[in-house]
Amino acid sequence: MQPLLIYNTLSHQKELFTPVTPDHVGMYVCGPTVYGDGHLGHARPAITFDVLFRYLTHIGYKVRYVRNITDVGHLEHDADEGEDKIAKKARLEQLEPMEVAQYYTNRYHAAMDRLNVLRPSIEPLASGHIIEQIELVKKIMDAGFAYESNGSVYFDVRKYHEHFKNYGQLSGRVIDEMLSTTRELDGQSEKRETADFALWKKASPEHIMRWPSPWSVGFPGWHTECTAMGTKYLGEMFDIHGGGMDLMFPHHESEIAQKFACCGHGPCKYWMHNNMITINGQKMGKSLGNFITLDEFFTGNHKLLEQAYTPMTIRFFILQAHYRSTVDFSNEALVAAEKGYNRLMQAYKTLQRLQPAKSSSVEVKEYRQKCYDAMNDDLNTPIVISHLFDMAKLINTVNDRKATLTQADIDELKGVMETFAFEVMGLRDEASTDNTALIDGLMKMILDMRATAKANKDWATSDKIRDALGALGVTVKDGKDGATYEL
Ligand SMILES: [Zn+2]
Repeated sequence: MQPLLIYNTLSHQKELFTPVTPDHVGMYVCGPTVYGDGHLGHARPAITFDVLFRYLTHIGYKVRYVRNITDVGHLEHDADEGEDKIAKKARLEQLEPMEVAQYYTNRYHAAMDRLNVLRPSIEPLASGHIIEQIELVKKIMDAGFAYESNGSVYFDVRKYHEHFKNYGQLSGRVIDEMLSTTRELDGQSEKRETADFALWKKASPEHIMRWPSPWSVGFPGWHTECTAMGTKYLGEMFDIHGGGMDLMFPHHESEIAQKFACCGHGPCKYWMHNNMITINGQKMGKSLGNFITLDEFFTGNHKLLEQAYTPMTIRFFILQAHYRSTVDFSNEALVAAEKGYNRLMQAYKTLQRLQPAKSSSVEVKEYRQKCYDAMNDDLNTPIVISHLFDMAKLINTVNDRKATLTQADIDELKGVMETFAFEVMGLRDEASTDNTALIDGLMKMILDMRATAKANKDWATSDKIRDALGALGVTVKDGKDGATYEL
């Protein structure tokens, strides 16, 4: 097994990954709240943890990857007040809430499939685990860290922190300041402290999604689902809990508190968080109204987009940055990602056609280990990409007959590219479809006609062919041995 270092948000340092159970990994990642189309901000955690899932599997672990669907309990502004996000959408569109959740779950899956994000091992719904959530709330109440107020149940943050002294540790918030500086609660509030969070909410008469419980007919708080479902499917203590940095507080902080309150320990060994995608330096998000949906990227149909970007361009764009760095959206950056992605795919194609030599004039055996070293260093995908670019350069040099490789070395390069570009980073060659042979044949015919026109000094025809191909996105390159093309 490769010695994998991952950055643990809880300890603020890179740690050697050692699973709870040898050879097995249990990993939980917070999935989407399904009340709108997935946007670029959703693509990042999905791709980040997809790469982790793929890599852990590649190095030999048996991985159980759980990523939930939040279809109930997530209120507006991530707060304890306001309307349920899905119920609100259902009311606005006059639909059954589950119809809204199903519709956007289907669309989320379709977008993720296009991004080549593998489906998790288990994808549980919050609404399908109400009983488990009620049981969790009961345990927390029995331990004395929650109180009932007017049919709702709240987590007692002050009492919890006095006992465990770790509320705020994950997100770096100072709880004493939170408790003393939060605004005074008005007489209407059911909570003892503003910092307290809901474990169960009594449903108001117009609230559609509701279940019976010992306290009231209502619905669970947003943070209980991940604690309940993580424990159910991955056990009392699992390996990795992941999500976006924006979920660190209050969501993950509260998950830790819930687990400590009922069991005396946290849910997992390692907490991993991907950074945000910004747009003009501001977080991209649905609640901020400055987001671009994935479908809009794929079609180019948005005022901020200068062109359409394929799913693999988006995936490559995200992988070009380390997952803990911020990424700022711009058309220039996406165009650069498109070029980089195409360069790699082109190099892989060139590699298939290289003529082997009796001996190699260059060394290739270090590439594989360099890629492993980068992945083992907290999933450093930008460094893996830079090694793949070095390989692409070498492949082109050999293709230009300025260096030689044996068949064994050509096979080694193929193996490294297939492992790291395709299997681990999850890229796929969008241009290679079943039509490849047909397109090649047609292009050969067109380029032969153009060569004939040129031989006859019929420049008008040869230019017309080149320009028409250019308009279709096909670049013709004239070389010593005739013309070649690139899609
Ligand atoms: Zn969660």
